[in-house]
Amino acid sequence: MIAEVVVDIKNKAVNKVFDYLVPEELRDVIQSGVRVLVPFGPRTVMGFVISLKEGTELKKLRPIQELIDVVPVLNEELKELGMSLSVETGSTMIQCFEAMIPNAMRAKYKKKLLCLSQPTHPSIQSLFSHTDLVDYDQVPKGLLKEVKKALEQNEVELIYEVKDKLGKKMVKYVALTQPIVDFSMFNRANKQKLVVSYLSEHDQPVLKSRLMSELQVTHAVLKTLIDKGVVKEIEVEAYRDPYADHVYPQSQALPLNQEQAVAVKSVLSAVESKSHDVFLLHGITGSGKTEVYLQVIESVINRGQQAIMLVPEIALTPQIAGRFKSRFQNRVAVLHSALSMGEKYDEWRKVLKQEVQIVVGARSAIFAPFKDIGVIIIDEEHEATYKQEEAPRYHAIEVAKWRATVHRCPVVLGSATPSLESFARAQKGVYRLLTLSQRAVSLATLPTVKLVDMRQSAKGDQLILSEALRQAIATRLERKEQVVLLLNRRGYSSFLQCRECGEVVNCPNCDVSLTYHKSNQKLKCHYCGFETFLLKHCPACQSDELRFFGLGTQKVEEYLQEEFPTAKMMRMDVDTTSKKGSHQELIEAFERKEADILIGTQMVGKGLDFKDVTLVGVLAADLMLHLADFRAAERTFQLLTQVAGRAGRHELEGEVLIQTYSPDHYVMQCVVQQNYQAFYVEEMKMRRRFGYPPYYYLASVMLNSEDYNELIKACDQVNQYLRNQLGHSCVIIGPTMPYVGRINQRFRMYFMIKYKQEPRLRGVLVQLLTYFQEGTVNLSLDFFPYQF
Ligand code: ADP
Ligand code: ZN
Ligand code: ZN
Repeated sequence: MIAEVVVDIKNKAVNKVFDYLVPEELRDVIQSGVRVLVPFGPRTVMGFVISLKEGTELKKLRPIQELIDVVPVLNEELKELGMSLSVETGSTMIQCFEAMIPNAMRAKYKKKLLCLSQPTHPSIQSLFSHTDLVDYDQVPKGLLKEVKKALEQNEVELIYEVKDKLGKKMVKYVALTQPIVDFSMFNRANKQKLVVSYLSEHDQPVLKSRLMSELQVTHAVLKTLIDKGVVKEIEVEAYRDPYADHVYPQSQALPLNQEQAVAVKSVLSAVESKSHDVFLLHGITGSGKTEVYLQVIESVINRGQQAIMLVPEIALTPQIAGRFKSRFQNRVAVLHSALSMGEKYDEWRKVLKQEVQIVVGARSAIFAPFKDIGVIIIDEEHEATYKQEEAPRYHAIEVAKWRATVHRCPVVLGSATPSLESFARAQKGVYRLLTLSQRAVSLATLPTVKLVDMRQSAKGDQLILSEALRQAIATRLERKEQVVLLLNRRGYSSFLQCRECGEVVNCPNCDVSLTYHKSNQKLKCHYCGFETFLLKHCPACQSDELRFFGLGTQKVEEYLQEEFPTAKMMRMDVDTTSKKGSHQELIEAFERKEADILIGTQMVGKGLDFKDVTLVGVLAADLMLHLADFRAAERTFQLLTQVAGRAGRHELEGEVLIQTYSPDHYVMQCVVQQNYQAFYVEEMKMRRRFGYPPYYYLASVMLNSEDYNELIKACDQVNQYLRNQLGHSCVIIGPTMPYVGRINQRFRMYFMIKYKQEPRLRGVLVQLLTYFQEGTVNLSLDFFPYQF
């Protein structure tokens, strides 16, 4: 028997399927779709078995070393999807398969040195004096040269060991061996008797650790009872359930309003007729889209089918997860990055075993290994997080459509501010449009939105708060209502600049400024993670006139605290939410009104629902508007509309104040009117004029290298090739330097290709991949480019 295996080697040249011999003892247990360990060159790597066949030419084949799974982690559908994704995105098969499973199940390797014969060099000899196998990382740096020689002379060999795989968590329960106990065997009222009477009061086995802490007994007591045969120990696999200590009060389906009812009915009729229609649910903020999702899903699982519900990572707050848990309790698995590796692994296995019917998760949950999907829902479908920015560069909406055709189920895309691509498709009838035009709570109305013209208000050059916003905040504080403030910037802290010579303190590895983090007094790079202590002198002129510029959430918080000394502040950004559970705690504390003002980055704009928030302020609305990205206007409109939607969601009336230097811009005007249609019409004109999606499709070719000259040479080659091959049918732009021209010591360039119809495109670009698969220049493709 031969297994066809996709091996875990990231090198693009190895993007092939390899044959391995299935050893006799594995023949009966091995299945297609399991993970295995196989030899590859000198190393042992993980691989996915994608098919099994009977073979004849078995002599040359190396055998599979070990079976990692008994139950396949990839079913037939997912294997096929992985193969197709690899072709569609120009990524390797292994990258696609790994994208489908939780992080914890991806192999990690440890480099080791194996001693083959007596090394000549005495220091190398002493390395192996007690063992044949040494951790490569433990070898002293000074010896690496000698190690290299020993490797060349075949005295030692470099091998890779697969690091420990994440284990299942086992927990111990205890129970009585017989239901009836003869209490006379305990002469006194001792601890043993206490345990036995406790257990006899419980019908079910009791968690060992809980029993020990409740009764204050030791292991020894239990051991004695076990030895006597009175008590038995039961070991079961436990899921690390992140929601275990949370009680979710059961919620009931709400009576739907007319528009909601139409939406639910339309989707369900597609579910019943097994059509793979795509619906665009365009509903203003607070119009009750989530209630529509909940009721669609309820019907789907009542039919015995399963549902995938995607939510953007950032919005996958406990609020959303909580709403699904409350309605569906333990029929839901939740998958998102705030969970630990073990928790994610456990939640995912509940899906694999079909123990839950619903998965709520971020982008990668689109690969949930369900067998009979009845609906796939993607909330906030316009969000950039649905596009993966590393290989495989896929878009979750495209994967959803692929799976929907296989499962013959509808896809629902929901948003208050749909992407232009999606809305254009709905206009053309490719997608079916469903509209929710009113806020769902009967007394809630859309907030009033006003612009504050900062060209007039700004007296100093770093004005944080206009008079209008200051007064609005003061009023809310008096009325004991709550305020949400958005500081819309990509970074979240200020940068350091020299007042003498103008030097900005940059990352040594990337072409971006370092940002200052007050909490640990460090300067940090948001691209490569580089960190350094605060400098005292300018690296260029040695002057000590280094000053902070720019506005970060920390700085705004301090400023506001001075302005409103009695107000309680809370800050929500990457710094305050990185610790596990901290995001949830923040939200719950704000809900309990432990703070009056919540200041935050984009995070505060997404999906939150607070009863007493009546004012939303946007401090600098233009920051994103003028970026050199054709989606800048769309993103600004989306973010401002979303954050405005946080105000007045319930009975109290809401107000939104937006501080801007471009009040006449059509984005600002449309936000004030809260008019998506008007924005769509204006923005479509721009897209048509400049030839961008949805009028054209895009693809990009990205190159990077440590060697700038090599990069430029490669760009010339690519440029010529692209223009020769595609010049007549596509618009080719580039080479262009991206927003950040160097990341992690590697220089970067890209080409953008605009096309309407060019069946040869994929083939032409994949040729480039093959051409650049070796060498110092790294080339990759993106068929859904989002960030430049
Ligand atoms: P969206 O997802 O469109 O922003 P939500 O689903 O969060 O809107 O709904 C906003 C609020 O309206 C929530 O508090 C929700 O409980 C409430 N709601 C939704 N549908 C109804 C309904 N049919 N009747 C009463 N309240 C509703
Ligand atoms: Zn950096
Ligand atoms: Zn200087």
